[in-house]
Amino acid sequence: MQAPKQQLLSVIVPVYNEADGIQEFHARLAAVFDKLDLRCEVVYVNDGSSDASIDKLQELRDQDARVGLIDLSRNFGKELAMTAGFDLARGDAVVIIDADLQDPPELIPEFVREWRAGYDVVYGQRITRQGETALKKATAFLFYRLIQSVSRVRIPVDTGDFRLMSRRAVEALKRLREQHRFMKGLFAWIGYKAKAVRYQRDARHAGTTSFNYWKLWNFAIEGLTSFTTAPLKLGTYLGFFVALSSMVYGLYIVYKTLVHGSDVAGYPSLMVVMLFLGGVQLMGLGIIGEYLGRMFDETKQRPLYLIQQYLPPADAETTVTPVPLHRPSPETIAR
Ligand code: UDP
Ligand code: MG
Repeated sequence: MQAPKQQLLSVIVPVYNEADGIQEFHARLAAVFDKLDLRCEVVYVNDGSSDASIDKLQELRDQDARVGLIDLSRNFGKELAMTAGFDLARGDAVVIIDADLQDPPELIPEFVREWRAGYDVVYGQRITRQGETALKKATAFLFYRLIQSVSRVRIPVDTGDFRLMSRRAVEALKRLREQHRFMKGLFAWIGYKAKAVRYQRDARHAGTTSFNYWKLWNFAIEGLTSFTTAPLKLGTYLGFFVALSSMVYGLYIVYKTLVHGSDVAGYPSLMVVMLFLGGVQLMGLGIIGEYLGRMFDETKQRPLYLIQQYLPPADAETTVTPVPLHRPSPETIAR
């Protein structure tokens, strides 16, 4: 062992059905830990996996004193699994990383270097996406550009959740308790000095991605509606445009009737205008509905997640007193 290490680095890993790859992941992460001149802990958040992930994680915790384990009461989704990790991680710096080895753990020392250089947030920025279809690449590209152009907070392009955050950045993040958590947006919202580290995104190591297009589409809607009210304005502008064109068309009809006399054959144009207006109105209502639904969810003030069991790292040395702003209430933690 080296001289007494001072600061603590926490790594949070959301885990959902990763039984096949988790050991390989931990081996690579442990190798990185061994080289760092920091005290290290890793907190695996089991997000209600339906495979043997929880047993594999228990095994890892038995073998390695640096391993902590949060077992959520069911599958809450990656965003909330990460939130549970942030709430319980004790590190002076906290890294969030995927369990499927798409984010290389070997990048963490680079993150730590930038953190020590004074950055509060150090995020990985992807250069390539291997093992992903052209369609997914294209949709990801479009989504990032779209949200960039309509949202007030600057969300960095081609950036996932893989990042390091300083203690104060984590504390800031912990104060954002909304139910609809578009993490990329929340990360950007807190601000602070940020630095990008470019890296190659590898293909998934084992298992399959749990994100399909329908999920991604909902994710995009989540991102847009929780970070911008631009779609609400879209309804206004569209309505304005339609009203204006109807007026021009109306003037044309008046002119036609005065000059050429009236004809009864107005049925097609009437039908077109009616259907078009109906469509526009429904769209406007739909947009309002998206926001209303989100408000409904927020007003319920439910806890973000529930913990089945929390097993902190066995390593006594890492037991520093955490001062979480939002410590989960005792009844949510069954030890
Ligand atoms: N994940 C999770 N809960 C879920 C879905 C995924 O905790 O409901 C975890 C998963 O185990 C992995 C990370 O989130 O560590 C990213 O998931 P995935 O690789 O499926 O997403 P992608 O890389 O395709 O965006
Ligand atoms: Mg992945």
